[in-house]
Amino acid sequence: MIPYGRQDINQADIDAVIEVLQSDYLTQGPKVPEFETAVASYCFARYGVAVNSATSALHIACLALGIGQNDIVWTSPITFVASANCALYCGAEIDFVDVNPLSGNMCPDALAIKLEHAAQIGKLPKALIPVHLCGHSCDMVAISTLAKQYDIKLIEDASHAIGGCFQGHKMGSCHYSDITIFSFHPVKVITSAEGGMAITNDLELAEKMRLFRSHGISRDVVSMERPNEGAWYYEQHLLGFNYRMTDLQAALGLSQLARLDEFVATRNTLAGAYDKAFCHYPIVPVNPIEDSVSARHLYVIRLNDAQKRRQCFEHMRSKNIWVNVHYFPVHLQPYYLKQGFKEGDLPRAEAFYQQILTLPLYPSMTNIEQNSVIKTLLEVL
Ligand SMILES: *Cc1c(COP(=O)(O)O)cnc(C)c1O
Repeated sequence: MIPYGRQDINQADIDAVIEVLQSDYLTQGPKVPEFETAVASYCFARYGVAVNSATSALHIACLALGIGQNDIVWTSPITFVASANCALYCGAEIDFVDVNPLSGNMCPDALAIKLEHAAQIGKLPKALIPVHLCGHSCDMVAISTLAKQYDIKLIEDASHAIGGCFQGHKMGSCHYSDITIFSFHPVKVITSAEGGMAITNDLELAEKMRLFRSHGISRDVVSMERPNEGAWYYEQHLLGFNYRMTDLQAALGLSQLARLDEFVATRNTLAGAYDKAFCHYPIVPVNPIEDSVSARHLYVIRLNDAQKRRQCFEHMRSKNIWVNVHYFPVHLQPYYLKQGFKEGDLPRAEAFYQQILTLPLYPSMTNIEQNSVIKTLLEVL
């Protein structure tokens, strides 16, 4: 079976985890802060807050930005459900901005029109969550300009995108945003088994996210609200969660981070080979925006119609090539339909969904595997 994506674990990764298993701390030890510092400095950002998933990172990012009841958050409909769910966890309302028909990323023109209308009716969002689909950067210049104009907070869901950059700014630099989120799930670009991180340049946001990550508990003597009872004493300042990453995960993440640039280079080489193989066929690769480097988490193609897409999907699956579709539009999920969304709300996202197919792409993919994917796809066309 050729999967659409898979982790790449080497002996150094294994040794790093074993070392932690034999140490004094399985969790709340030195590896988590070491991983946070390493990711933040890789991205040229100030603070990293490691958590047990990107979903948790999205949740605490929303909470740290003060999102709650009576607030509205906008994201992209072509994403994993977590990008939208985080707003609902906070009791806020969610809405979606339609996508660019070629990239599937949040469309700045659709955003501008929706903002203008929302301003007129007094329903502006408090935060925007653009998603860098496939690892391809959104047009962050246009999106952040609009966000500033309307005084809206920006969280980048860069779950697909660590290792990439846009106009010379590393993903996670938070050059355009308040907070950037990464996922380290095994199908993503680097892994810590489960895990995620929120990156920010704002100390106050970082400290709030640290509180939300661990029960809202602080041991910081300076911020005590009551008299310090002694060295055992800690205070709970808000209602937080246990979203902590373990040291085992952080050690794996650190070891993987050392291999990130190599992974991204390999992914781009494989993507280039796909592009070349398809250039004379009615297959349109979803390509990165100009002046960017994509981390290439996913290699997605567009086929001209839904029937062709289904044929390709079924033929390839029958040959044990585990193609996939990223993503079914979030607003059409039964749960979201019950919130009042309906078919036709986001026509370009719905049309994009009908055309897309995710082909296998992972660093350890061999030429033989890739050629078999290409050959099997072209058999249908
Ligand atoms: C994978 C993913 C998430 C959630 O990541 P977890 O680490 O599994 O919680 C969120 N957003 C997007 C776009 C993703 O692809």
